[in-house]
Amino acid sequence: VNQIMAAKLLLLSAICRLIVTVGSTLHPTDLLLVGTENQLSFNRSEIRSASLDFGKMNTVEPMAVLRPASADDVSKVVKFAYESAHGLAVSARGHGHSINGQSQAGNGVVVEMSGSRGGRWRPVVSEKLMYVDVWGGELWIDVLKSTLKYGLAPKSWTDYLYLSVGGTLSNAGISGQAFNHGPQISNVYEVDVVTGKGEVVTCAEDKNSELFHAVMGGLGQFGIITRARIALEHSPQRVRWIRVLYSNFSAFTHDQEYLISLHDQPKFDYVEGFVIVDKGLINNWRSSFFSPSNPIKISSINAAGGNVLYCLEITKNYYQHSDPESIDQEVEALLKKLNYIPGSVFTTDLPYVDFLDRVHKAELKLRSKGLWDVPHPWLNLFVPKSRIVDFDQGVFKGILGNKTSGPILIYPMNKNKWDDETSVVTPNEDVFYLVALLRSALENGEEALTLERLSNENRRILDFCVEHNIEVKQYLPHYTTRQEWMDHYGEKWPQFYKRKMEFDPRHILATGQRIFEPSF
Ligand code: FAD
Repeated sequence: VNQIMAAKLLLLSAICRLIVTVGSTLHPTDLLLVGTENQLSFNRSEIRSASLDFGKMNTVEPMAVLRPASADDVSKVVKFAYESAHGLAVSARGHGHSINGQSQAGNGVVVEMSGSRGGRWRPVVSEKLMYVDVWGGELWIDVLKSTLKYGLAPKSWTDYLYLSVGGTLSNAGISGQAFNHGPQISNVYEVDVVTGKGEVVTCAEDKNSELFHAVMGGLGQFGIITRARIALEHSPQRVRWIRVLYSNFSAFTHDQEYLISLHDQPKFDYVEGFVIVDKGLINNWRSSFFSPSNPIKISSINAAGGNVLYCLEITKNYYQHSDPESIDQEVEALLKKLNYIPGSVFTTDLPYVDFLDRVHKAELKLRSKGLWDVPHPWLNLFVPKSRIVDFDQGVFKGILGNKTSGPILIYPMNKNKWDDETSVVTPNEDVFYLVALLRSALENGEEALTLERLSNENRRILDFCVEHNIEVKQYLPHYTTRQEWMDHYGEKWPQFYKRKMEFDPRHILATGQRIFEPSF
């Protein structure tokens, strides 16, 4: 076995050397014969698929694709790139759901973390210690399926579950539970990381903590996460899912902020919300919920002070053995404290898994209409609480007009649930909002929905924030110059830079983020 391993290693090393030496003149067919034997592939369709992402705005082809079966496979390629005289970019790709080519590696190797060949790594649940160990490329939907067998589930989620663990942990991982549990990066006990030197390091809050904090929200800059130990809770079985409407923005945000301020008392388990500037479009992404049997129709509400409506979205989780009446009472008591439009309560009740997996249903619907595989000029911003009213005036009621081309999410989070030692940057206030403009461009559609138009609008929104001194931070950030990245990180930049020099000194990793120029 050792001899075979050694032979494979030599072969891998030879291939990598060949790539580096021959550079872009290398013809993939020269290597096909050897590539299939190993995890490295030069197959056209694999290369093509690794060159794309959900954003559909950039295509950058790698030289090769690695489908690792273990952290060791990842380590070998990174180590080779680190030690090679020429250097080689290596980018982990989770499920390729980035918007701006963040997991691409031009002329390098893309490490396809999800669905890795062999599937040797299965999630391992500790019922006693309430955690699950998962492969870094595992999709959250599969993490959920494996933990549910034990009646357990992760605590903090993203709205969509077909994202990889390593990919969301490299950003933060947020949804309506974040106000209570913090982002996903606040719910990880330990990770194995392959650093930019090819070393495999186990790290946690109290073990190699500098690397642990660096990779949490680290945009793939410091290492490739090959294993994560994720905190679990007893899984609820059912969810009461409620939506209420507002025409008054201050009443809406007041209620959202009130709900996330509740701590050791009855509270909702999930608090989100969305802005309705275009009543037609919400039907595609988030809305079969507003059924004809609901007490009032959205279109019948004339918003005071403009056509914009706000929808608060909240849930109460419960267990199979819970008394339904007591759930009703708890929900009623909480709703009584809120100032939504009377009669605008939309309620449904469904299994917990169906709630968590809700966006997948929207995906299937959009796919069937040919609206999924289109360019997505998304813009995600963290907006400080003190300026959210100005943002509403200038953006929702201003720049957007009455066309949005996708849902606009808005929900607040508590900063004290975020660990400041991690690499993520958030506004400097106790409470900040996520505003997510999740837009789809339709080139042949109405003028308002073209990629150019939506991208210009994103630029205008960012310019508006600068002009009005609204200190937003981009979530899933995208910048192209060093200065913009330095401004993004602000006072965290020196630490970010120092960590990069320590853990990926040759700037091999995640070059698609365009933060550091490769030093080769
Ligand atoms: P990729 O896009 O493949 O990678 C993202 C970055 O992380 C790249 O730089 C890559 O090199 C790096 N990376 C990937 N894997 C690893 C690894 N194992 N180790 C180190 N670095 C790695 N985000 C939220 O927080 N909340 C949401 O509710 C949410 N909903 C979404 C819904 C949809 C439909 C989509 C398309 C995206 C959504 N996102 C959400 C954004 C999502 O978190 C990001 O796209 C994230 O990058 C995860 O996607 P991915 O796993 O495909 O990673």
